[in-house]
Amino acid sequence: MRTHFHSAPFIAAIVLAVVLPTALMAEEGHRELGAHVHGHGTLNIAVEDKSISMELEVPGMDIVGFEHAATSDAQKQMVDEAKMILQRVLEVFPVPAAAECTVASVDVAVEAERHHDEDDHDAKDAKAGDHDHDSHEGHEGHNQFHATYELACSNPSALTSIGFNYFKHFAGAQALTVNLVTSKGQSSYEVSRTKPTLDLSGLM
Ligand SMILES: [Zn+2]
Repeated sequence: MRTHFHSAPFIAAIVLAVVLPTALMAEEGHRELGAHVHGHGTLNIAVEDKSISMELEVPGMDIVGFEHAATSDAQKQMVDEAKMILQRVLEVFPVPAAAECTVASVDVAVEAERHHDEDDHDAKDAKAGDHDHDSHEGHEGHNQFHATYELACSNPSALTSIGFNYFKHFAGAQALTVNLVTSKGQSSYEVSRTKPTLDLSGLM
């Protein structure tokens, strides 16, 4: 009789184990199709010996509060100032001084969100002011900031953490998904306004 009583929860657990990963994978696939989510950006980091490549992709909403092309002088100034901040990579994403990192190259650009069909661009641009919703699958007129960085670190084993002053600079930014690739493998992290650090101890 005991097995009878235990079987229902047991089956429920199996069903959850089968269904949940599928649901999570669907969500992941959805994001990879290019629907950006306001407040949520991506930071890819690849560490290879002493060189660190970083790529930041963030909705314009997170950085300057709008995503249409800057038209007024005030908007252009906001974009220019944001670019200047993002160029200071070691201030926006500080690493321990002991890692002895210097900036080898920086490129910060504003670009239209990728993976979209160009055909209905104009129609969607007309709605660019409507930004109340969080997700924009298939919408056009959602510019994003795209920054790429190369760091050279003399002592990469001291790279035990990354700070995210990023959230202090950009009020619309809530979270970053950090994808890290090192010689020890691949991992993903969620860094947020309430937890603005990434612990890398043991990974370098
Ligand atoms: Zn958007």
